[in-house]
Amino acid sequence: MKITRKTFDEVMVPCYVPQDMVLERGQGCYLFDMSGRKYVDFTAGIAVNCLGHNHKGVVDVISKQASRLIHVSNIFTNNQTLTLASKLVKLTGYEKVFFVNSGAEANEAALKLARRVAYDDYGEEKCEIISFAHSFHGRTLFSVTVGGQPKYSTGFGPVPGGITHLPFNDIETLKNTITDKTCAVMMEVIQGEGGILPADLDFIRAVRELCDQHHALLIFDEVQTGVGRTGSFYAYEQVGVRPDILTTAKGLAAGVPIGGILTSTKIAAHFKPGTHGSTFGGNPLACAVGSYVVDKVSDPAFLQHVTDMGEFLRAELARLNEKYHVFKDIRGRGLLIGAELNPEYDGKLATLQKLCTKHQLLLLTAGSNVLRLVPPLIITKAVIKEGMKLLERALQDLQAEAQA
Ligand SMILES: *Cc1c(COP(=O)(O)O)cnc(C)c1O
Repeated sequence: MKITRKTFDEVMVPCYVPQDMVLERGQGCYLFDMSGRKYVDFTAGIAVNCLGHNHKGVVDVISKQASRLIHVSNIFTNNQTLTLASKLVKLTGYEKVFFVNSGAEANEAALKLARRVAYDDYGEEKCEIISFAHSFHGRTLFSVTVGGQPKYSTGFGPVPGGITHLPFNDIETLKNTITDKTCAVMMEVIQGEGGILPADLDFIRAVRELCDQHHALLIFDEVQTGVGRTGSFYAYEQVGVRPDILTTAKGLAAGVPIGGILTSTKIAAHFKPGTHGSTFGGNPLACAVGSYVVDKVSDPAFLQHVTDMGEFLRAELARLNEKYHVFKDIRGRGLLIGAELNPEYDGKLATLQKLCTKHQLLLLTAGSNVLRLVPPLIITKAVIKEGMKLLERALQDLQAEAQA
């Protein structure tokens, strides 16, 4: 069968417009397309492939587990699911885990759980959910409606009700909006898709206090910030505020689909047998890889490496910026990095991304004017420098184009 990029347009639902190449293989921080062309990968499958591509340990765990047990459903339990759950509990101090297959499903579970807790303890009036502008929480109808980007939920109505979006980092507005009818506040510690926008420490503390005052549950969506991405295993560790429910996914099984929620025994008790579920969630294959990832990534030396590489990458971006003056701001934590374009490059984000691909550097965008860099956490200084050389060529092209 002859496969080309055109095949996408012929047989795929057009939700995406993938770039021109068709990828075939990866190794470490590199990807290769069907013609053998090599790319430096600063996307890591959207902050997923934390250990890079074709990682020997990951491949070994997958093949070993595949020959033992791939899936049994949740009407049985299995050693791998229990091992990963125990590791997460031990690592974080949360008491209970529920596994799903993606970030959206993790948020869906967290939101349903928050509604059920409020319903059981206070009655059905307490059902309102507060979230923030520019947030992203996934694509199920509930999670996409809670997300603060109307372009993603428009045209799918009627959408679930009782959801209010407030400006991010605005304590006063939250104070004036939250009531005893609020059952949950959902937020990202650093908004990922929205533009690598960090929550202020004061804001995070105020959200925690206001949730406590009004008996609302605080949910941190750590789907993108979790699993070492920001230099601690979860980002909440760095802000001194612990959410009641934490959602995790993306990097947790290094590319094998998985998601989960972490919470207390008291809150978890409201999901009684039959109230929620998942056929694939917590399957032994994904959990075996998850256990391997938790062991690797929670190692303090590994987390220090993420912090160091993040600082190095931001410094390299700043160095390029001194020469080319393209970025208004370079921000983020660990290896979750955003470089916001100067206003004179408004509308040029996709062009710059394409130019990078032309020079064989793959990176992402966030919001309308932010270049997003989320390389594999195992990246080295040498690969960062290699990527920066390619970015420099793309920036030269961008400026040449702007002057033409
Ligand atoms: C990616 C992402 C999601 C959605 O995860 P899926 O696995 O695509 O469902 C939710 N929240 C945040 C913060 C994300 O970055």
